[in-house]
Amino acid sequence: MSNISVLGIFVADISFSGSKIPSVGETILGNDYNIGPGGKGCNQAIAIARLGGKVNFLTKLGRDDYGQLALKILNQNKIDTSTITESCYHKTGVAGIMVDRKTGENAINVITGAPSTLTVNEIDKNIDKIKNSKIFLTQLEIPKEVTLHCLKIAKENNVLTILNPAPASEISKEFFNYVDYFTPNETEAEFYTGIRITNEKEAKKASVKLLNLGLKKVIITLGEKGLFYSDGNEEIYLKATLVKAIDTTGAGDAFNGGLAYALSQNKSIEEALKLANKVAGLSTLKLGAGNAMPTLKDLS
Ligand code: ADP
Repeated sequence: MSNISVLGIFVADISFSGSKIPSVGETILGNDYNIGPGGKGCNQAIAIARLGGKVNFLTKLGRDDYGQLALKILNQNKIDTSTITESCYHKTGVAGIMVDRKTGENAINVITGAPSTLTVNEIDKNIDKIKNSKIFLTQLEIPKEVTLHCLKIAKENNVLTILNPAPASEISKEFFNYVDYFTPNETEAEFYTGIRITNEKEAKKASVKLLNLGLKKVIITLGEKGLFYSDGNEEIYLKATLVKAIDTTGAGDAFNGGLAYALSQNKSIEEALKLANKVAGLSTLKLGAGNAMPTLKDLS
């Protein structure tokens, strides 16, 4: 039985690398392409599974080639896919990514596809998996009414909930009643508080504002500066691990996956933050999102 449920999206990241990002109307001969897993939910589920966590992934896929690819990747990573809704009428999500190989800059077009049509009725078919989990982790890439419904059911069943509020977007105050851990990055924290965060002091100020909104535990990730945690009593600031980052795509997903895994292992908040910080740091050493997630062995 899985003890962590992740609700979120899968997209096939298709990245093209070339000497430049083509301009409008231009065709270039590029150098290489790569197809790998993306979507915050998928990346977070992969991070948990690679650490050895038992995780199920609640999402919606089209019955198409990319849907098959998603199932293959999820199964390879030992993620429970029995919770996935499939649809003949919608396409699996895809992201077209143009990368300038000299600068690393990119231009991205994401088509979320099937998961944007996920309904409460569809998710209810698998709701027992959430009810029987220890941890429920989600983001803001799935329709809001489905996300809120799942958070509420999770809390009513004493499941620990983590909301990674990404991408930042308006959510009703009701969400806050059902969230144990709220994990924005700096820009997301600024979106929800109006406070620009460049250091620990500003992160603390933003966390106070978030706690005043009714949130219980706030973790603001600060990129290469690390993270700040507060529950109103205990405060923890951790520096990021010292690594020579190659690609920070998915670092936040690695962090959230690491946090969920650590909390499922009954680790203290300080131990959990340390583990998640390490997982996130290691994920920056490889290119890509889902494919960059480290294993438990990589941590030692
Ligand atoms: P997101 O990927 O959502 O923008 P952040 O950039 O805040 O999130 O990164 C999440 C976590 O990843 C950080 O708290 C830190 O643990 C780790 N991290 C990110 N960038 C680096 C880096 N350059 N070096 C080491 N760790 C990093």
